[in-house]
Amino acid sequence: MQFSKANHSVSVRDLTLSFGSLTVLGNLNLDIHDGEFLVLLGSSGCGKSTLLNCIAGLLEPTEGQIFIKDKNVTWEEPKDRGIGMVFQSYALYPQMTVEGNLSFGLKVAGMAKEEIAKRVARAAEILQIEPLLQRKPAALSGGQRQRVAIGRALVRDVDVFLFDEPLSNLDAKLRSELRVEIKRLHQQLKNTMIYVTHDQIEALTLADRIAIMKSGVIQQLADPVTIYNRPNNLFVAGFIGSPS
Ligand code: ADP
Ligand code: MG
Repeated sequence: MQFSKANHSVSVRDLTLSFGSLTVLGNLNLDIHDGEFLVLLGSSGCGKSTLLNCIAGLLEPTEGQIFIKDKNVTWEEPKDRGIGMVFQSYALYPQMTVEGNLSFGLKVAGMAKEEIAKRVARAAEILQIEPLLQRKPAALSGGQRQRVAIGRALVRDVDVFLFDEPLSNLDAKLRSELRVEIKRLHQQLKNTMIYVTHDQIEALTLADRIAIMKSGVIQQLADPVTIYNRPNNLFVAGFIGSPS
């Protein structure tokens, strides 16, 4: 079957994901534009991580297909999808320095030393973590660790970034600082970002478009102003208007 995928960086087609008898996502469709910052917003348990993990290749769809940059990647390994993922928990290697954490994946992939050094230096500059390169994760603050986690996706030079609640372990001040940082990163890199959160403020400030999910179903997909001013239904109106 032929789909029009022009200007779509990621397309989710008729995606169903069940854990045994529990269907978390039922026949879900979503097209994300090239260079778009798309936020998946919904309360805990609605299926946001499940959807992101299907796009990343960490979960195999029960039915349906995933396209990235016009390529059907449904059966591709995560490492071959051209994506970088940042999780809520930082998942850094505790025994390695920041520099080691940033370069490890590239070394494993067999990249030349000079290219690795160039990429690490660039990521460190963009994320303003140059003074931290020789430190170990235990000697970093939560915000600094999350910058390193973002850096690990950045050095891979991927087309698509996936973020799963990357700021929810941080205090309010750091959250707003890193929010600005992520926005700046997107403006600088102009790549596609899919960002999962349950935080309405994060969604409204970061997104080009927001997809609001409830029980595995997208209730509305629109830009923040439209979602805020013209919610599709009572659920969206109530959810966007209430503090997280
Ligand atoms: P969210 O990220 O929006 O909080 P999840 O995608 O993590 O939600 O989970 C959606 C639903 O799927 C929840 O009801 C959760 O309990 C269930 N779920 C998630 N992962 C598994 C799993 N590996 N096995 C069984 N149920 C799961
Ligand atoms: Mg989740």
